[in-house]
Amino acid sequence: MHDVIIIGAGPAGLSAGLWCDELGLDTLVLEHDEQVGGQLHSIHGPIGNYPGLTANNGKEFLEKFAERVHDSDFDLWTGVEIESVDLKAKKIVLRSGEQLQTISIIVATGVRRRQLGIPGETEFAGRGIIESPTRDRGKFAGYDVCVIGGGDAAAENALLLAEVCPTVTVVHRSKSLRARREFAERLKTEHSVTVFPESVVNRIMGNDEVEAVEIRRKDALKPFQMAVRGVAIRIGVEPNTEIIQGQVDMDELGYVVVTSQQETSVANVFAIGDVSNPLAPTISAASGSGATAAKVIAARLQGRER
Ligand SMILES: Cc1cc2nc3c(=O)[nH]c(=O)nc-3n(C[C@H](O)[C@H](O)[C@H](O)COP(=O)(O)OP(=O)(O)OC[C@H]3O[C@@H](n4cnc5c(N)ncnc54)[C@H](O)[C@@H]3O)c2cc1C
Repeated sequence: MHDVIIIGAGPAGLSAGLWCDELGLDTLVLEHDEQVGGQLHSIHGPIGNYPGLTANNGKEFLEKFAERVHDSDFDLWTGVEIESVDLKAKKIVLRSGEQLQTISIIVATGVRRRQLGIPGETEFAGRGIIESPTRDRGKFAGYDVCVIGGGDAAAENALLLAEVCPTVTVVHRSKSLRARREFAERLKTEHSVTVFPESVVNRIMGNDEVEAVEIRRKDALKPFQMAVRGVAIRIGVEPNTEIIQGQVDMDELGYVVVTSQQETSVANVFAIGDVSNPLAPTISAASGSGATAAKVIAARLQGRER
């Protein structure tokens, strides 16, 4: 019987783990991926907005973060497949058949990239759909590419791809980019980048590999095709809540609804980080919510709750 099981080892889950450990709780963190860090692996630009800690990218940030994790005593299992979670009974069954029992659960499963649902999106996975502009850099160097989306991730991807691709076309639905001003300004000065506002990509086409996208612009009568070899789809995120679906209250977008103590509608089940924070998904908010949940759990277990 654990005091607390934390599901997810991104910034939120790791912060909660550190706090739970410091507060003397028997803590187990379960991470689906082989590596910890969650979205930090997708941050390719500098991080300068976390108090007291700066880094050139998410990986570097994680290295600093992980130093503390290595010094801690909480159990951390990576590469874990969760078969089922019974939030009320506080029971978790792993795909391996192992059954885990706990007093409290912290859900820290974060968010994942949203899918467009257009023809070609899944068919060309690994054959022209750009997963990571840094990892796939060599593969798309010298080719024309398209980035779909108008937020921070889309802008950051476009800027990175512009370093190696002759043309980068950013296609997004709104009148103006939603990306932070710094990114939007840099896109304007990047001569290889063209932005199509109020436009959508209808489909991704090709034979063995991506060869073109079909774009519909608001001001054009007909959709047109544009030759590209790579497509990065960055249209926002959705919360990872499948394993707890139907067991806790969620908002209309599927984010877990929590109290100011990070508690869900099920007693002693907490949700922290991006999975319960559609408005301000940041590393600092994720870490803070982890600290809150850990402190509430410790106070309850030690009979100190006010
Ligand atoms: C491109 C980009 C740039 C960003 N820049 C900044 C920035 O400059 N400053 C800033 O503060 N924030 C930034 N962010 C946001 C920041 O990364 C997130 O707010 C933060 O990572 C949220 O942490 P989290 O732990 O809640 O979720 P995540 O980082 O999403 O981690 C969730 C973890 O849970 C795991 N998981 C999911 N489902 C399961 C399951 N069923 N079982 C077990 N494990 C599971 C996932 O594998 C993952 O490791 C950026 C994000 C992106 C994508």
